[in-house]
Amino acid sequence: MALKRVNAVIVGAGAGGGIVAKELACAGMTAVLLERGKWHTAFDSRKDDLCNQRTSQLGCAFGPDERSPRVAVDDAGDTRVVQPNDWAYSNNAACVGGGTFSYGAMAWRFMPQDFRMRSTYGAVEGSTLNDWPISYQDLEPYYEKAEWEIGVSGEAEPAVKAPRNRPLPMPPLPDSKEHVLLEAAAKRLGLHPFHIPMLRNTVPYNGRGACMRCRWCVGFACEVDAKNGTHNTVIPKTLASGNCELRTNCMVKEILTDSRGRVTGITYFDSENHLQEQPADIVVLAASAIETARLLLNSKSRLFPAGIGNRHDWVGRNLQGHAYTGAMGLFGFDVFDDLGPGASIAICDYNHGNPGIVGGALLCNEFIRLPIQFADMTPPGMRRWGAAHKEYMRKFYKRSVIVMGPVQELPVFDARVQVDPTVKDFWGIPVVRLSGHRHPADVATGKYIAAKAEAWLKEAGAIQTWPRTPGRELSGGQHQAGTCRMGDDPQTSVVDRNCRVHDVDNLFIADGSVHVTNGGFNPVLTIMANAYRVGEYIARNWRR
Ligand SMILES: Cc1cc2nc3c(=O)[nH]c(=O)nc-3n(C[C@H](O)[C@H](O)[C@H](O)COP(=O)(O)OP(=O)(O)OC[C@H]3O[C@@H](n4cnc5c(N)ncnc54)[C@H](O)[C@@H]3O)c2cc1C
Repeated sequence: MALKRVNAVIVGAGAGGGIVAKELACAGMTAVLLERGKWHTAFDSRKDDLCNQRTSQLGCAFGPDERSPRVAVDDAGDTRVVQPNDWAYSNNAACVGGGTFSYGAMAWRFMPQDFRMRSTYGAVEGSTLNDWPISYQDLEPYYEKAEWEIGVSGEAEPAVKAPRNRPLPMPPLPDSKEHVLLEAAAKRLGLHPFHIPMLRNTVPYNGRGACMRCRWCVGFACEVDAKNGTHNTVIPKTLASGNCELRTNCMVKEILTDSRGRVTGITYFDSENHLQEQPADIVVLAASAIETARLLLNSKSRLFPAGIGNRHDWVGRNLQGHAYTGAMGLFGFDVFDDLGPGASIAICDYNHGNPGIVGGALLCNEFIRLPIQFADMTPPGMRRWGAAHKEYMRKFYKRSVIVMGPVQELPVFDARVQVDPTVKDFWGIPVVRLSGHRHPADVATGKYIAAKAEAWLKEAGAIQTWPRTPGRELSGGQHQAGTCRMGDDPQTSVVDRNCRVHDVDNLFIADGSVHVTNGGFNPVLTIMANAYRVGEYIARNWRR
């Protein structure tokens, strides 16, 4: 039996979904926010170095679990079923807050060129590179809204060439030893270093306290609630409005449509695994780039035989993430002062304007490395066991610095999400099948940026450096994006500039899947800004 009809159902209580829910509920619309995971606190998960959202050898602390496998296709075309803690799974998270519950909290605005990649660089063979249908200026007010409502700290005017109308609301944390060393070296090289903008309280803000600088930040819940995600900002406001019900442990199965092709609601398995039908006037998908594509592809009907929004076979295509690239440097003196979160200083000198390269990447120092991660970070030629390895760990854990950056990837049509014809999850829903490769140019960009990272470390005094560069393996992962491209042409995109699915006027998408390109920056602030824009659009055009 169908549940009581609401104005809007929002699927996924992550970065995009939490924000849209708040915009709709606070504008007076009745809503249900459905999340497949639970609402964690910092106290129901231990600081376990082997089971968190960054190092997950023993599982992903904030989901999903083994009830939600995927299928990965390898170079030979062979398939294997993968669990969420396998790199090939491309996991982000499954809980209230989504990725924002345990993320590193870097809060980057994309630069104006990131929205105009085709106009800036021209067509690239083997890539569907295109411009966004909206500009940086269209998104600028919503970046500001995210920075102030969710809460971002950093320099008032970060040295990213992304013009802003208002400074950031909070100052950066005081500099660590590593920060001071890298800042001086960057300046000597003629670069423009600055503090990374972070979704983190550095002073009391929004009724919560400041960061206590512990070493378990990225991948973990924040014990003092100083890391700002949707779970501790907009979702509580949404619920306080009285207009929205959050239902956790609810797995959405399918989007329902009527005989005219309009969406009528969704079906989901509730926390007792009973199938429920939730009717709604509008549905907003914010299940992240891979799961949103899966939902559309799994919603087949007479009018949509290949899945909703997939008339031109673009749903699930152009899966992107970030090819992480950079270098590690060893020093002859201690550079580690155990002040979290670790990542603090960045340069954006190499995001654009690199000769012969399409795009580029920011470079910044890394979050504090867990010992289990450092054990793998050996110089070329060194074995990862034995006395020499132990000696290396003892000597260099406190004498090492990593500088890395997210390469802007070129979208590839065959890097894709499909649904598997045979494998089903715990609830009997066909699972995601992931296949394809990165564009070869991403590998070249990765090498170029890694060389810049090595030069920065050497200038800082590193006695040995070595690069870490990407291969052509399929991208996605925690920065997954691109599978439901935004565009003006329904033949080459899935949603229009307001993120409404071309075919269906009451179905919207508000997560990373709508990104045409994914910038040379971590993507969450752009996902948040766009979700504010989409939420405002829906609420403004809502006819009561
Ligand atoms: C450890 C870690 C560190 C990160 N660090 C950074 C960083 O420093 N800066 C940055 O910019 N980004 C970072 N990210 C990435 C960032 O968190 C993501 O880009 C962002 O959360 C994606 O937003 P989204 O709205 O697309 O999806 P998500 O935030 O992933 O939200 C999607 C939600 O939908 C739910 N869902 C999916 N399918 C269903 C279904 N069928 N039914 C019900 N619910 C469903 C999921 O459980 C999830 O909660 C990090 C991520 C992780 C995990």
